[in-house]
Amino acid sequence: MKKNDIFMIHGSDYREMTKSLLHAADLAGMIGNRKAVISLKPNLAVAKSPSSGATTHAELLEGTIEYLKEQGFSRIRIMEGSWVGDSTERAFRAAGYDRISELHQIPLIDLQKDRFQEYDAAGMKIKLCDTAVSSDFVINMPVLKGHCQTTITCALKNNKGVIPNSEKRRFHTLGLHKPIAHLNTIARNDFILVDNICGDLDFEEGGNPVPMDRILGFTDPVLCDAFVCDTMGFSLDEVPYIRMAEKLGVGSSDLSQAEIHMLNQPSEPDFSPKPSRRVEALAQYICPENACSACYGSLIHALNRLDEAGLLKKQLKASPIAIGQGCRNRSGFIGVGRCTGKFCRSLKGCPPKASEILEFLKKNWLND
Ligand code: SF4
Repeated sequence: MKKNDIFMIHGSDYREMTKSLLHAADLAGMIGNRKAVISLKPNLAVAKSPSSGATTHAELLEGTIEYLKEQGFSRIRIMEGSWVGDSTERAFRAAGYDRISELHQIPLIDLQKDRFQEYDAAGMKIKLCDTAVSSDFVINMPVLKGHCQTTITCALKNNKGVIPNSEKRRFHTLGLHKPIAHLNTIARNDFILVDNICGDLDFEEGGNPVPMDRILGFTDPVLCDAFVCDTMGFSLDEVPYIRMAEKLGVGSSDLSQAEIHMLNQPSEPDFSPKPSRRVEALAQYICPENACSACYGSLIHALNRLDEAGLLKKQLKASPIAIGQGCRNRSGFIGVGRCTGKFCRSLKGCPPKASEILEFLKKNWLND
C-alpha cells in the first residue's frame, strides 16, 4: 500500500468489511514478520457504547484480530488509555472489548497504568507509554468525529491515548495542537483503520451520531485527517495540528495526490437508528428517498456547517434538498449526489463529500 492510498468500504457487516479492507490493503504484507508484536489502538476516550458516536466499534477489532490470526500472526494486543476523567477498564467493558479479549485470548492493556519514558519528539519532550514503544506494528483505529476543542479528531489525535495521564493534562495546557503534531513524530501510525460508521457530529463524547456505515484505511495519518476535514466540511485552516504535523514530516495533507480505492458502492442502510434531536433538526431540510448512509451523512455534516455559521434557520421555507436512489430518473429543483442528476440544480458525486456539498449549497440553495 502506498502512502497516498485511501481504501474505503461501505456496508453494515463491519467485521467482514474490516477483513475485506485489510485483505485489499495487504496488511499482512506490510507487517511481514509473523513474530511481530502488533498493538491495536482504538479510540476509547470515554466509557460509552460505539453507537453513541464516541468509540471504536468492537467489530473492527474483531475483524482485524481474525484477519491477523488467519494470516499467521499471534502476538496481538489491544492498548488504550482513556482520558483523565474516565477509567480505561470501564471503557473496555462499555465498548464490548472484554468479550473479544476472552473469545480470542487477546490481552487488554490499560495504558493509564503503564510505565512510560520521555522522548525527544522533534524538539519537544514528550512522555510515551512503554507498551506503545515496545510494539513492532501499531494499528491506529480512531473514530472519525467532531471535537469541541480541535474541531475534528481522527488519526493524529487518537495517539493521545498512548501517553500517561500527566502528559494528557500538560497537552491541554499547551493548547493541544502543537503537542499533538509533535507526538506523532514518535508515536507509530503503521496502519490506520478508521471507524466511519457513526462518528459524532461535533463532540468527542458522542450523543449525536451521524450514520455513514463506512470503514477507511490509510498509512498516512496526515492524509487521513485532511480527508476527515473534507468529509465533515472543514478547511485545513480550522484544524491547525494537521499542517503542523505535515511540517514536522509526519505525512502529506495533499488530497489532490490521493488515490482512492472504493472496494464497493455505498448502499442504503438495513436499519436506521432513531436520530438524535440535533441530527433530526438538520434533517428537516432534507427530502430523502432511499439514500445511502455515506451520502446522507455527508449532507448532515454540510448542513451542520451552515447551521454553525447561522445560515440555516432562514432556509426553513426553501425547497428541501433531495437525496437518494429513489430520485433517479425523476426531476426536481435541487438535489445532492449522482442520483439527482436530472434535477435543475444537482451536485455530482457518489457520494459527494461534505466540503463539496457545502460549496454547492452556498451557491445554489442559500438565499433561494
Ligand atoms: S449518489 Fe445515490 S447511489 Fe451514490 S451514494 Fe448518493 S444516494 Fe447512494
